[in-house]
Amino acid sequence: MTLEMGKLRKAAIGELEKCAWACRYYAENAERFLADEPVQTDAKRSLKKHQPLGVILAVMPWNFPFWQVFRFAAPALMAGNAGVLKHASNVPQCALAIEELLQNAGLPFHTLLIGAERVQKVVEDQRIAAATLTGSEGAGRSLGTIAGKQLKKMVLELGGSDPFIVLPSADLDKAVATAVTARVQNAGQSCIAAKRFIVHERIAREFEKRFVQATAALRTGDPQDDATEVGPLASKQVLDDVDKQVRRSIEQGAKVACGGKRLDRPGFFYAPTVLTGEVEKTAAWREEVFGPVAPVTSARDLDHAIALANDTPFGLGAAAFTTDPKEQDRLADELQAGMVFINGMVKSDPRLPFGGIKASGHGRELSVEGIREFTNTKAVWIG
Ligand code: NAP
Repeated sequence: MTLEMGKLRKAAIGELEKCAWACRYYAENAERFLADEPVQTDAKRSLKKHQPLGVILAVMPWNFPFWQVFRFAAPALMAGNAGVLKHASNVPQCALAIEELLQNAGLPFHTLLIGAERVQKVVEDQRIAAATLTGSEGAGRSLGTIAGKQLKKMVLELGGSDPFIVLPSADLDKAVATAVTARVQNAGQSCIAAKRFIVHERIAREFEKRFVQATAALRTGDPQDDATEVGPLASKQVLDDVDKQVRRSIEQGAKVACGGKRLDRPGFFYAPTVLTGEVEKTAAWREEVFGPVAPVTSARDLDHAIALANDTPFGLGAAAFTTDPKEQDRLADELQAGMVFINGMVKSDPRLPFGGIKASGHGRELSVEGIREFTNTKAVWIG
């Protein structure tokens, strides 16, 4: 992971441990999740069965090269399916290492080293029962169309532009520290990174001051060095895209509070950046930025904060900081997202379902929902 896409070495080790956690979680719970469920009807005996669908194609991205695959593979294989992986083209060694690991465990799993242009043929192959794609909105639309034409089940985990709301009752130290991590983790290349910061106007100045200070103080550098806090971006393409989005945002009215440029050193480094001012109409707010760039705006009250948060085509995660139980309930009810985290950053956890709504996709991974995505829930009625 570190060699192929520049992930911090310590984060790569954490990612592997998380994969082991997901495997252990399904090893311990799959039997219960997939057990026959008796149902009372007019039959002598009736029940629901959960049976595997067959061979599932997984098209996966490079940003969490192991975790994304295990998040699919652990439940899908445990349910009795076989897996075929088309990994992102820049992480072939990760793809082969995962294949070796799973095959050594005796599981039916194969890696195809193919480019995106050959995915259509695989989806159309009669031996493929269903597909899942984690990646960009564009790739999701393209593969979703192909799978739809084939009438094949499809799970889509796509991009996000998660809001991060801070309200006056919040513990500000915790909110600032979490905001920084939520934006720069994995050098900002995470679908569930906080990407739009919405702060109540009563605390906006103080939040902004501390947020900028903490972001500017981050140590960027060699991902192999355990003292590094922000590593490089994964490729020149990602760096160029982030740079262009920030430049456009500045032209559109954003102000650079810190960062706002490439770092002058070998490698694909971008300075951790905070944008303030009129950010709501800029690219940094309206588009998904896959890098360490944080646009911040203020809200008049809770209604305004929720309206700003929901004003996006995406609906993956959302985070908010408040200690007021009434506000917590309203946020949990009204934020348009697949996942809402209060007083913590959005993260995946094998025990909770993971996925989005709107342009962030459909279907769920992890938890009981994740293991049932690629099963046939069969109704059985015996008279
Ligand atoms: P990407 O360009 O969409 O690539 C993802 C995967 O799809 C790669 O394996 C890629 O293959 C393949 N692909 C691209 N276009 C395709 C097409 N037209 N038909 C079939 N396959 C296609 O995305 P990325 O740049 O690797 O990853 C970043 C995106 O993924 C972001 O938008 C991020 O938010 C999203 N993401 C979402 C989640 C989630 O759980 N919701 C998690 C992580 C990332 P090649 O590498 O060969 O092009």
